[in-house]
Amino acid sequence: MDWRRNHLLVISAVQCNYGEDSLEILRKHMVGRHFNTEQLFHLTSRKTCSWAYFNEREYGEALDNYIRESRKLGIREIFYLNTHSILPGTREEHPNWVQLDRNGNEIRAYSVDYLVCVNSRWFDEYAQTIRDLCSHDIDGIFIDGPVMHQAGCFCSACKDKFQERSGAIRDESLRCDR
Ligand SMILES: [Zn+2]
Repeated sequence: MDWRRNHLLVISAVQCNYGEDSLEILRKHMVGRHFNTEQLFHLTSRKTCSWAYFNEREYGEALDNYIRESRKLGIREIFYLNTHSILPGTREEHPNWVQLDRNGNEIRAYSVDYLVCVNSRWFDEYAQTIRDLCSHDIDGIFIDGPVMHQAGCFCSACKDKFQERSGAIRDESLRCDR
């Protein structure tokens, strides 16, 4: 913790990866430019877009290798984690993770992805991802989200939670899903 309080952080944040080698990005964009910290995004960014997620099986070893190299350069690593949207492929696997409007329509993110609901079972995966990340020698996690739509979410998990907290809705005219 002390390193964050006692030092001015000069943070590099390369927010995309179009197929480049991450160690090359490290050498090309950080070395000799006076950065001492990185918001690490490009290591796990999908090669065709600028979205980044973490999967232990897919990226765990690469993360360890990357941290080893950045340590040699004196650069701290704050891992970027998308916690607000999911890609269409993930939505296909987990349709119940998506936020719904009051009419039951899925709420999109950036017109191409989906806003994920923090009250859904997605949270279990999120918590496991945090546990996985904490098993690596990272210096922090930048959690990009979660985001709730300004009109609220009406997925089954949110409705269940609302009912649980507010008691059963006896007056049918007050039901949001009528
Ligand atoms: Zn919801």
